[in-house]
This record gives sequence, structure tokens and C-alpha cells, in this order.
Amino acid sequence: MEGRREPGISRTKAQRRYRCTKEPAPLQYFHKPHHTWKISSPFASHAFHPVDGFLQGLPYHIYPFLFPLHKVAYLGLYVFVNVWTVSIHDGDYRVPRFLQATINCSAHHTDHHLFFDYNYGQYFTLWDRIGGSYRLPSAFQGKGPLEQIRKLQEEGQHTSGGAESGTAHKND
Ligand SMILES: [Zn+2]
Ligand SMILES: [Zn+2]
Repeated sequence: MEGRREPGISRTKAQRRYRCTKEPAPLQYFHKPHHTWKISSPFASHAFHPVDGFLQGLPYHIYPFLFPLHKVAYLGLYVFVNVWTVSIHDGDYRVPRFLQATINCSAHHTDHHLFFDYNYGQYFTLWDRIGGSYRLPSAFQGKGPLEQIRKLQEEGQHTSGGAESGTAHKND
């Protein structure tokens, strides 16, 4: 039985981490489709399993039943979260340097797509820092996502290539 393999990213650390994620299994199942996009795009920002999309929107729907919230403010929040969600998927990593440590921007979320169990945050990095899932974005370390994927591919090829070359040496 051969599972679906994405070109060039198979057998990488990222995928092993993906399977070993700390998220409970049902959440993993419903959230996994969103991670079909290793490199996200504005379109990926709204590509969720319907159950995942519902669960992510649930706090916004519960809040007005618990606390006073004007209907215009509610609509404003709805528009804002949509714009924000697109912005963290658009691959534009520019953010003022003094905000890079606290705001969960596109660079943080790109690493979330690449490595799955880091940078879960929507707006801020606070809870990732408290929970130990914060990762300094690759892009802020001078390594873009494409460089990171190349590195992971090389690691994967190194393992299999090393074994093959070892066998070749034995045959020599
Ligand atoms: Zn995403
Ligand atoms: Zn995710």
C-alpha cells in the first residue's frame, strides 16, 4: 500500500513531525487538509476542512453570547479576521522589527505550515512561547522556506544516498 506522496518532500523531518504532532488525533484529522499547502498562499488561508473551519470560527460565535458586543463590532471582527488570515498566508514576511517577536506574521505561519507543530498562533506569539511551540521563523534567520525545503530534501537524499553509496563500496 503506497500512501499519497508529495513530490520532493517525502520522508523528511517535517513529515515525521507531522505524524508525531502533539495535537489530539481528531484535530489532526480535520486540520491536516489545510497543511496540504507546505508553502501557503492567500487561497490556502481559507482552504480548511469544513469541521476545522467551523471549530476555528466557534470562539467568535460563542463570545457575543457571553459578553456584550455590538453587531457592527462583530461584523468588523469578522472582516478583520479574514483579512488577517489572508495576510499570514500571503508569503509577505515584512513586519516592523520591533513587532517581530510578538506578532504572529506570515513568516511565523509559513513555518507552521512547514513544520506543523510550531507557531500555532493567530495574532500573537505569546501562547506559543508559553506552551513551548514558538519557533523563530526561518525567514528571520535568513533562510526562506524554499531554502528550508531544499535542506530537508538534501537530508532525506543524504540518508538514502548514503546507504546506497555504502552498498556500492561493499560491492567494490
Ligand atoms: Zn495556515
Ligand atoms: Zn495548522
